[in-house]
Amino acid sequence: MMKFVPVALAAALVLTGCAATPHTQTATAVAAPVAAPAATGPAADDNLNAVAWSQNASEHDFIYLQTFRDAQEKLLKAKQDPNWDALPKDDRAAHASLKGLKPAVVLDIDETALDNSPYQARLIRAGGEFNEADWAAWCKEAIARPLPGALAFTKFAAEHGIAVIYISNRAKDLDEATLANLRSAGFPVAGKESFLGLGTFVEGCEQVGSEKGCRRQLVAKNYRVLMQFGDQIGDFANVLGNNVQGRARAMAPYTAWIGERWFVLPNPTYGSWEPALFDNDFSLPRGERRQKKIESLRTQ
Ligand SMILES: [Mg+2]
Repeated sequence: MMKFVPVALAAALVLTGCAATPHTQTATAVAAPVAAPAATGPAADDNLNAVAWSQNASEHDFIYLQTFRDAQEKLLKAKQDPNWDALPKDDRAAHASLKGLKPAVVLDIDETALDNSPYQARLIRAGGEFNEADWAAWCKEAIARPLPGALAFTKFAAEHGIAVIYISNRAKDLDEATLANLRSAGFPVAGKESFLGLGTFVEGCEQVGSEKGCRRQLVAKNYRVLMQFGDQIGDFANVLGNNVQGRARAMAPYTAWIGERWFVLPNPTYGSWEPALFDNDFSLPRGERRQKKIESLRTQ
């Protein structure tokens, strides 16, 4: 059923498109016969447009570029202000004094620094869904390309004595492959400690799920964080309830920081925004998750 609906929808769109064509032509033009949609063909995939946009739209690249350029313009001013810090209050609390701390920027990796859209593209071609095994295999290929603007920004930061720290939900045992990928793509990597992956042990802090709070607290010990970058709100603050209201609540105290201390990048292909629409229940069949997403749509 799940595959049936999008195929029917695609066919309807094709027919609509063909029917509209004669109206744009001269009155004497004769409409070509409309070919019946092929009975067989690739199954529709809800992620096709998002991944095609991410890979092919100039607009995608320009959003990254303008975000990182904007941040770069503001970075040295942030460095000069000794009270400037971009960690959420909860994560800063245990190390409240900023005195003597080295400046740093914190970046998420996937869809912030590195472009993993080829992995998404493979899933579409194969009709598959995300799974840890082939995700890890992709990461180990270490061929992800840098996203536009990310290299220039991180290099600028490093050249100005600002540590570049990557907090990622890639598993900690993908550290070698990830660091190799970052380095070969040209990113500044000070050392192994600049990658804080999922499963990083932080004394006195219990990580909840894949929340990055403990790792931000670890960074808080040694660094004044000038800016954070990510494609998901969990890259910036802890999200206690991943539903539409909980997500809004987590970010509400910090909206003034967006574009100043926190720089958010677009990811229509995946992210916590999506499971928020189906109660975070990935065990639901694909069709049921799809139905919940349709129900989430606003029509006015
Ligand atoms: Mg990411």
